[in-house]
Amino acid sequence: MDDLADSILIPETSAGDEVFDKALRPKTLDEFIGQEKLKANLRVFIEAARKRKEPLDHCLFYSPPGLGKTTLSYILAREMGVNLRTSSGPILERAGDLAALLTDLSEGDIFFIDEIHRLNAIVEEALYPVMEDFTFFVSTGKGPSASSLKLAVPRFTLVGATTRAGLLTGPLRDRFGIVGNLGFYENGELEKIVLRSAGILKIRMLDDGAFEIASRCRQTPRIANRLLRRVRDFADIKGKGVIDGAIARYALDALEVDPMGLDAIDRRLLLALIEKFSGGPVGLENLAIAIGEELDTLTDVIEPFLIQSGFMSRTPRGRVASQKAYRHLNFPVPPMQKDAGLF
Ligand code: ADP
Repeated sequence: MDDLADSILIPETSAGDEVFDKALRPKTLDEFIGQEKLKANLRVFIEAARKRKEPLDHCLFYSPPGLGKTTLSYILAREMGVNLRTSSGPILERAGDLAALLTDLSEGDIFFIDEIHRLNAIVEEALYPVMEDFTFFVSTGKGPSASSLKLAVPRFTLVGATTRAGLLTGPLRDRFGIVGNLGFYENGELEKIVLRSAGILKIRMLDDGAFEIASRCRQTPRIANRLLRRVRDFADIKGKGVIDGAIARYALDALEVDPMGLDAIDRRLLLALIEKFSGGPVGLENLAIAIGEELDTLTDVIEPFLIQSGFMSRTPRGRVASQKAYRHLNFPVPPMQKDAGLF
């Protein structure tokens, strides 16, 4: 149970998720729920590019995982009527890997690089002239006889996605004409998302069932969809095959997702912060060691939601537990808390 409870909210994709992600992924901007400002802007950029018969400008999307960056990239390709090729920062090891993909593109195509902050410096530098004027420099020979050949690449759109915009180098960031931040979703939007997903998966669900899932999914569509599938199991086995509020609460409690949407790892982190570090401030590295998690998981996945929902704050001296965290875990709120008054 512990493993399941630990991982249910961590939105790294599993093989099962990928199949469902594909089936549940909205296909058009109209189907994509929420992120209204970003969508409105993208509509303008798409229309303008189509009118001028030009590829869309290079786009960078950043957000914590599971909020729709990949989905938006597929939508852009569909709305522009072009193909999408995908790769990711860690896969593109050598400039040659990049060349192979680029030469395979057609005019106007979208080339999606996930985790673009993890590109190595050589590949990243090879990308600059490509992004600027669609030229790829191939180096030939070694030592003093080394030279480079210019290779023309079809005019395409690079879409980069990252959970860590802060890790992108300035020169790379500056080469994106369109930069979009996806924020956490409102409960109402998440209810629409799970109801839509339930419809596609032919799951019977009542509004109060959608309400429960929406309020406990870390404001993240991928987690909402994941919880929907798990809650369905409980509804089928322990209930009457319909997801209503009662069975959703029962299932989410069994999965150790609490009413605020925190799971076992979140609680372990807050508990460590309060018990081992007297509420902080403490550096993220020490917290990661204390709870036995990777630093990257903490930074990318766990802490954005804890900060957004006011359980923890980031100060120049480290992470601090908020009064809300003390109350949520049933600890007396210390009188001289450093962030007193903040929450
Ligand atoms: P990211 O690339 O940011 O990690 P994804 O684009 O892979 O996130 O989204 C994960 C899943 O969540 C998608 O497959 C889709 O089913 C769902 N999803 C994301 N954003 C939305 C949205 N705005 N409306 C409906 N479903 C969404």
